[in-house]
Amino acid sequence: MSDVADEPLLDVIVIGAGAMGLAAAHHAAKAGCSTLVLEAGEVVGGMAAHFDFDGISLERFYHFMCLSDEGTFELLEELGLRDRVVWRNTKMGYLKNRKVYPWGNPVALLTYPHLNPIEKFRYGLMAWWCTKRRSWDAAEPLTAPVWLKRWLGESCYQKMWHRLLHQKFFQFTDKISATWIGTRIQRIGQSRESLMKEKLGYIEGGTQTLVDALVASIRENEGDVLCSAPVQSVTVDSDGIKTVTTPDGRIWKAREIISTAPTPIVPKMIHQLSEDERSKLAAIENIGVVCLVYKLAKPVTGNFWLNIMDEEHAIPGLIEFSALRDFGDDHVVYAPYYMPIDNERWAWSDEALLDEAFEAIRVANPDITQADVTARMASRLKYSQPICTPNFLDRLPAIETSLPGVQVADTSYYYPEDRGISQSVALGKTMARHSIARLGQ
Ligand SMILES: Cc1cc2nc3c(=O)[nH]c(=O)nc-3n(C[C@H](O)[C@H](O)[C@H](O)COP(=O)(O)OP(=O)(O)OC[C@H]3O[C@@H](n4cnc5c(N)ncnc54)[C@H](O)[C@@H]3O)c2cc1C
Repeated sequence: MSDVADEPLLDVIVIGAGAMGLAAAHHAAKAGCSTLVLEAGEVVGGMAAHFDFDGISLERFYHFMCLSDEGTFELLEELGLRDRVVWRNTKMGYLKNRKVYPWGNPVALLTYPHLNPIEKFRYGLMAWWCTKRRSWDAAEPLTAPVWLKRWLGESCYQKMWHRLLHQKFFQFTDKISATWIGTRIQRIGQSRESLMKEKLGYIEGGTQTLVDALVASIRENEGDVLCSAPVQSVTVDSDGIKTVTTPDGRIWKAREIISTAPTPIVPKMIHQLSEDERSKLAAIENIGVVCLVYKLAKPVTGNFWLNIMDEEHAIPGLIEFSALRDFGDDHVVYAPYYMPIDNERWAWSDEALLDEAFEAIRVANPDITQADVTARMASRLKYSQPICTPNFLDRLPAIETSLPGVQVADTSYYYPEDRGISQSVALGKTMARHSIARLGQ
C-alpha cells in the first residue's frame, strides 16, 4: 500500500482512457499540467480500443467518420494526422423479405417496392428536412416514435423504423428522444458528396492511430497513462485535495479530477457528490452491446450499412466495414447485438450469438458458407449507449459537480448528439480547459 504522504500532488487525474479521457489529458498535459490517466481496462481506447483480429489491428466496435466530425478533424490537425483521414463513397441497403434493396438516395427511395408513393414522399421530405434543420427545439419534448409517425404516418413508421428501434432499445423504444434520432439522421444525411453519393471516412490504421497519438502526446508532455487501474474511490479533503484509490491499494492525489467513466458507476466512486447528483447519475439507463465481427473470404453485399427488416433475425443490421476500410483479400463485417442487459440473449454465449447472426449474413448473401469464415470474435460492453429521453439534458447534473475541481461526464453529456469520437474528444477538451483555467496554467 502506498503512503499518501509520499505521493506527489498532481494537477489533473483523468479517469478513463477512452477518446474523451485521452483528449482531456492531452490538452491538460500540453498546457503544462502534471497529468495522469487511470484506466480500468487492460488497454487504452475504451470503446475505440483495437484488438488483434487474426492479424488485423481492428476496432472492437466499428467506427466511421462523417463530414461533420469537426472535433476529430481539429484534434487530428493538432496531432499532425489530418492527412491520415481516408474518405470513401459508401452505400446503404435494406434487407427485406430476404432480398437486399439499395437505400440512401432519391432513386433508391423511388424504386423501393415496400412503400407507397405518399409514404415515399413523406420519407423523402423528412430525410431532406433533417439535413437542413438548424434547431431541434420543436421536437425536443417528443419521443422518436411519436415524431417519426408524425412525419411518416403509422404504416411507414412500422415498415421502416419500428423494428430498427426495437431491436436496439427493446423496452426503451417508446422513451427514446426524437431529437436524438433526428440528429443521427442529420449526421449521416449531411455526410454526402452529392445527392446520390454518401461519403464516410476512417483514419488510416483505424481509431488506434488517434489513440496512440494521444497517448504519445500525453507522455511527451510528461503525463502518463496507466492501464489496469480501475478507480475505486475519489475523496476530497477540506483543502480541496482529491485522493484517488484503486482496489490494489494504490493512491494518488490531485487538484483536479476529470471523470469520463460511464456515469452510472460514478455515484459509487465519488460518495461526496450531493444526493441529487448521485441519484441523477445513477438514474441514467444504458443498453449493452455484444458486437460480433467476422472475417470472410467474400464480400457480403457491398453495402457499408445493411438495415435488417426481417423478423427472423435478431440483429438490426450488418456493418460491412471492408466496404469502407480496405483489408486486401479479407472482408470484415460487424453484427451488433444491442440490448438491455436484462435481455435473455445477454446471457447467451458468444459462440451462440456468432452462430445465430451468421444466418443473417448467409441470407444477405447465400453464396457465403461457413468455409468462408476465416475468423470471428465477440466484444461485450455493458454501458454502450445511454437511453436519451426527451428533454434529456434536464435529467443530467452539471459537469462541474458540487465538489469544486471534480468534473464528471460521459457520452450522454453531448446530447442530442449520439455517441461519437468527435463529440467525446471535443467534450474532453472543454473539460480540460475548465481544469487548466482553475489551475491558472
Ligand atoms: C458498437 C459501437 C459503435 C460505434 N460506432 C461509432 C462510429 O461509427 N463513429 C463514432 O464516432 N463513434 C462510434 N461509437 C462511439 C464512440 O466509440 C464513443 O463515442 C467514444 O469512443 C466514447 O469515448 P469516451 O471516452 O467518451 O467513453 P469510453 O470509450 O467508454 O471511455 C470510458 C473509459 O472509462 C473506463 N473506465 C470505466 N470505469 C472506470 C474506472 N472505475 N476507473 C478507470 N477507468 C474506468 C472504461 O474502461 C473506458 O475505457 C461507437 C460505439 C459503439 C459501442
